Amino acid sequence: MQKDINLKLTPSEAKDAQTINNYIAKSLGIAIEKVTGFYRNKESIDARSSKQVWINLNIKAFIDEPFIERPVKPIDFRDVSQALKKVVIVGAGPAGLFAALQLIEQGIQPIILERGKDVRARRRDLAALNKEGIVNSESNYCFGEGGAGTYSDGKLYTRSSKRGDINRILSILYQFGAEENVLYEAHPHIGTNKLPHIITAIRKQILDCGGVFLFEKKVTNFKIENDIIKSVETADGNQFDTDAVILATGHSARDIFELLAQKNILIEAKPFALGVRIEHPQSLIDSIQYHCTLRDENLPPASYGLVEQVNERGVFSFCMCPGGIIAPAATSPGELVVNGWSPSKRNNPFANSGMVVQVALNDALNYFKKNDPTSTKLQDEKNPLLLMHFQSAIEQACFIAGGGKLVAPAQRMVDFTNQKTSANLPENSYLPGIHTTNLSEVLPSFIYTRLQGGFKAFGKKMHGYLTNEAVVVATESRTSSPVRIPRDLNTLAHPQIKNLYPCGEGAGYAGGIVSAAMDGEKCAQFCAQLIR
Ligand SMILES: Cc1cc2nc3c(=O)[nH]c(=O)nc-3n(C[C@H](O)[C@H](O)[C@H](O)COP(=O)(O)OP(=O)(O)OC[C@H]3O[C@@H](n4cnc5c(N)ncnc54)[C@H](O)[C@@H]3O)c2cc1C
Repeated sequence: MQKDINLKLTPSEAKDAQTINNYIAKSLGIAIEKVTGFYRNKESIDARSSKQVWINLNIKAFIDEPFIERPVKPIDFRDVSQALKKVVIVGAGPAGLFAALQLIEQGIQPIILERGKDVRARRRDLAALNKEGIVNSESNYCFGEGGAGTYSDGKLYTRSSKRGDINRILSILYQFGAEENVLYEAHPHIGTNKLPHIITAIRKQILDCGGVFLFEKKVTNFKIENDIIKSVETADGNQFDTDAVILATGHSARDIFELLAQKNILIEAKPFALGVRIEHPQSLIDSIQYHCTLRDENLPPASYGLVEQVNERGVFSFCMCPGGIIAPAATSPGELVVNGWSPSKRNNPFANSGMVVQVALNDALNYFKKNDPTSTKLQDEKNPLLLMHFQSAIEQACFIAGGGKLVAPAQRMVDFTNQKTSANLPENSYLPGIHTTNLSEVLPSFIYTRLQGGFKAFGKKMHGYLTNEAVVVATESRTSSPVRIPRDLNTLAHPQIKNLYPCGEGAGYAGGIVSAAMDGEKCAQFCAQLIR
């Protein structure tokens, strides 16, 4: 007999198989010898009670019959080296990689063109970024094999269950080397140290199946005839003929947005969110969330999610990284962008999170009216790149305020709410360094004042959160794409260019690794229907 059973256990009980066997026997009223094994269907942490943190488990128990491991059927990818149809995928982020795997399942040859380097070579450029403040505009935290997600926390949860089959994406990641817990934890994550191995295994699979995977191939043009893309051109002068194009270039490919605008291919400005990254000691977040002085060793470093409406605008935490590091995520010299990542053990002493405010088209118009009144391009509400220019302008202002070399302007948290320049700054994880700055002089006031309101409200929700032990670092600006590339709801193709599939986060249809992967699969399925 097999039975699904719910258990509520202490963290140490939930770690111990023998204790779980005992609970199974007890809950079914049978002898322990009859329990032959179990695996976890779901696992989540419930820290709502101030007395005890609980682990909620849903398990499949095997009684009086041999135990069978979790059924995970790996996908058998086929050989597409001789396929009659081929599709160029621009960008090897999660959207591009999962589009390629799906095309292979559909019997179509993917040709991946990636502007950056493979995961290993990319690491050297990240070292130069962190240690010397040198930004390579083709190889950084956003560009290169695996896309923006490669050197991230690798959080794998998404609220967008309507966009596709989350479990399928998690199973594929498991097939390529993610640990089994991604299949059952409520908030799974992989970690920066493990993601590159998974990405490399996916590349190997694509190549083994006869797909093409090329690095340092920056797409710079499309050859279009009768509203159909015939080929794409790369910066090194190569040309790739194709039956269709899946454009999965991510939220930071500003040159692609400019190319589309210049070719009069329809794109739209898209609201996004901008703000700061905030960093606390991890022990402080643990003590607030787990109601303790010292975290139970069986519990992971605590995380949080915060949201508040301030003056009719959402202020919210974003991409929280327990035990993490604040990273310089700029893609061009002269701009300052921060983001966050964590290793799989999340064992750094700091907890960081984005804290951002929704930005609308009018905000950008008002900003440019004040700061760049002579530019007609930036006063035009029909300009689809307006929000992208706004994003870029704030990043440049932060770079200047930091004093160069990716040193970031920063302020202690209570000082931020009091609009006071901090006399000094706490220890922190951001390697290029931080510089004390009154951020009210750098961030637009509609953002600064709402963050002030948000911080005060968050301090009431999480007692101890609003503290000068925390540091606020600017700017967190690459939260989602400031541009949407429209697509036909029925075909997912661009309404004008019939074989162009705008895909993933850059096109405005995903936010995070899993949703981008799901969108990649979906675009590949629709693309296969078109070209078959
Ligand atoms: C530091 C950091 C931490 C993050 N942490 C998490 C997390 O924990 N969990 C989570 O879900 N999300 C996280 N994210 C966000 C996540 O990485 C993205 O949502 C996701 O990668 C988007 O996938 P994508 O495939 O649509 O685009 P991207 O991952 O951005 O990939 C786009 C790819 O296209 C390439 N490209 C761009 N232009 C061209 C061109 N002209 N020619 C050829 N190639 C081109 C780029 O080099 C890049 O590799 C993080 C992001 C960063 C930067």
